[in-house]
Amino acid sequence: MYSSGGIIYMLDYPDIKGLASIGYNGFMSDNVKPWDLINGDKSPDELAAYRLEICKTCEWFRAKTQTCKKCGCFMKLKTTLKKAKCPIGKW
Ligand code: SF4
Repeated sequence: MYSSGGIIYMLDYPDIKGLASIGYNGFMSDNVKPWDLINGDKSPDELAAYRLEICKTCEWFRAKTQTCKKCGCFMKLKTTLKKAKCPIGKW
């Protein structure tokens, strides 16, 4: 995984081909954007950890890549954004 120009590429993601941007697409369908990781409000560490624990028990969580199959986001990153929301309302 690497990012360039605000786009997060997942080259090892098995469901997509070439320069994939599922993380970017997931963010774009949300109320947070990739660039919020740079200059957006951050959630307290306790809140990010709480959110991630919920994700880890969720049927939509892909443990191997730590991504959500609903929004496509990297949950270790998305959970740190204060305005981020679970796409199905779990947090
Ligand atoms: S963001 Fe929501 S749907 Fe996605 S893995 Fe976390 S709890 Fe599940």
